[in-house]
Amino acid sequence: MKKYLFLPVLVCAVSNLYAQRCYTDEMMEKVRREHPEVIQVEAAINEQMKQGLKAIDMRQYAAKGTNATSLPVDSSTFVYDIPIVVHVIHDYQASDYLTDDAIINAVKEWNQVYAAENSDTADVIKPFKPYIGNARIKLHLATKDPNGNPTKGITHRQSYLASIAGNQAKYDQWPNNAYLNIWFVNSFLGAPAGLQGLLAYATFPATSQIPSQAPYDGVISKALAIVFDRTINHEVGHFFNLQHTWGNTEVATACGDDEVDDTPPTKGHTSCSFANLYDTNCATGYVKQYQVDSIGPPPNYEVFSDAKDTLIDYPDTVNTQNIMDYSGCSLMFTKGQVYRMHQTLNLDVANRNHLWDPLNLAATGALLPMQDLAPIPDFSVEKGKVTGVPPSERTYFTCANNSAMQFSFVNRSWNDTITSVKMTFSNGASQPSVTLSGAGLSSTVNNTFSEPGWVTVGMEVLGNGANATTPVSSSTQAVYVADGDHPTVVDPQVAQYFMDFRADQTANWPIFNYYNNEFKWELDDAHGFLDHSCIRYSGFDNRPFPANAVGTPGGDYDDFFSPAFDLTAMSSGDCNLNFMSTGTFRTGNPADMKDSLIISYSTDCGRNWQTLKGITKHELGNNGTLTIAYAPLTYDEWALHSIDLPAAARTNKTFFRFRYKPGVDGNQTGTGNNFYLDRI
Ligand SMILES: [Zn+2]
Ligand SMILES: [Zn+2]
Repeated sequence: MKKYLFLPVLVCAVSNLYAQRCYTDEMMEKVRREHPEVIQVEAAINEQMKQGLKAIDMRQYAAKGTNATSLPVDSSTFVYDIPIVVHVIHDYQASDYLTDDAIINAVKEWNQVYAAENSDTADVIKPFKPYIGNARIKLHLATKDPNGNPTKGITHRQSYLASIAGNQAKYDQWPNNAYLNIWFVNSFLGAPAGLQGLLAYATFPATSQIPSQAPYDGVISKALAIVFDRTINHEVGHFFNLQHTWGNTEVATACGDDEVDDTPPTKGHTSCSFANLYDTNCATGYVKQYQVDSIGPPPNYEVFSDAKDTLIDYPDTVNTQNIMDYSGCSLMFTKGQVYRMHQTLNLDVANRNHLWDPLNLAATGALLPMQDLAPIPDFSVEKGKVTGVPPSERTYFTCANNSAMQFSFVNRSWNDTITSVKMTFSNGASQPSVTLSGAGLSSTVNNTFSEPGWVTVGMEVLGNGANATTPVSSSTQAVYVADGDHPTVVDPQVAQYFMDFRADQTANWPIFNYYNNEFKWELDDAHGFLDHSCIRYSGFDNRPFPANAVGTPGGDYDDFFSPAFDLTAMSSGDCNLNFMSTGTFRTGNPADMKDSLIISYSTDCGRNWQTLKGITKHELGNNGTLTIAYAPLTYDEWALHSIDLPAAARTNKTFFRFRYKPGVDGNQTGTGNNFYLDRI
């Protein structure tokens, strides 16, 4: 008891962290608003639940009525084995890049709780010790993917959505009738970073019965919450139809009920203070009446077939330590909650009953031991040591011999226990070849480059076991090195410079699709202004359902860069950056026309970029609204842009960057269309 006396002091400073920690109810409300048919599905589930409850052996509850000091042990040993896949949606940040080991160890912790084997059940307060439920649920990282290929049950995807997550970040879902999908992200759109505010949410089975919602079925959580206060156990609880202990409303507002009898009515809690731990609000005099067979005293628990009206006197203290509360001291599920989860696992709603079907367990390899798989080579490019103020974002553009800007390459290989990594770098790298092993596997490799062009990064990765002798190789273009020493001299007395984006002109105009997706700059050889060629931003999202249910373009950005120009001949008088463009919007609502083209210049080889102009709205979509993919047909559609270059931009080594940011509407649906640019 003494232990808890310290808790109020410890938790009061952090108690507000727990408010709004789980967003499952809010998401469910949204689905009810947008897809009212879900309400019928919920009603049908509840009816099935009630029918199921009638079949439940109430003797365990009835035993309380006989003043037994402990309840009979749930004698069933059947375990619900559930294949899972963990999707790491990341941007190579410490707060989102989960290692395989972190995931494998977390699954063990989650399973301890589902087996009621977590040692801190010892801290459950006395009134609830008899009610601790063993969920007999065991999550297994799948060893076979949907195509039957070997897997660790872990996928990786780098995305801008990792830090503005929501349903759109639920990339790469595996069939939700065969796997429980768990996505980890950095943080949620609009939620604070770290272990604050919204931590996670899940889908109720009823939601996932609605076809448009099925691509979101599963659990999504901040990576930092992977083993924080039973967050995943809580969310998987929702996935198996558990409500918050106070019901589907806002926490700490009104007495509520979760349709589970042995969790007394409560308002719920946002901290684990002593007062909350022994909270009797809403629960004083809480009893339930059943017609059940009465049961004799331990140790035999003789059953009398008498179907007696039995009044069960549940604790008059609420279950603040329940995993479905927000108290921050999540220790237990009750037996009633376990029943509810088991009933859900036996419903065909959203195919929950298929997950543990023996045929499915075989197809997903859920019960097989984890295999020794070959490593998957991967690395990230971080901001290296720079002179002066470092750029605020990751950058992949520099000049040859630019010692003011280093790049740091970090080994991110996974899918096996990595034993050794050899990294090689082209373009006269300051460290052309580095071998990492042991504790050095995660150390950064700093490089500058002396030769212009695309830097190729080679990797040779050795794992352990069968993969310890033959390395897995990869070769990736990662950084562009511009030639800053041979700028194109622009002197209107001699000749104007024109760029028409013909394939033979663009070798030194690097294009970056940072997140390797559909939304990107591409050379186009059919729709140019004067000749055939131009450059196009493919902003029209033409992916079919369900592919377009996730991976919204909102949040993406893509660049192309010019080579160096010497503009010193134009140090006085007017000097303009001119180009032609044509575009449309997919939406007719001006408020949703959020695409932008931001043109910047750099005079220090890409370390700092100054904005010249941001082009938006009707300047960008100058041809109005078009709901199909746009391609220009006539000259008339093209508009001239003329941007005055300030004196500071007229150096002997000026680069230009064209950054496109596609926009979305309130539903995260892409609102932009294709955009064409030519004749710079
Ligand atoms: Zn919740
Ligand atoms: Zn892109």
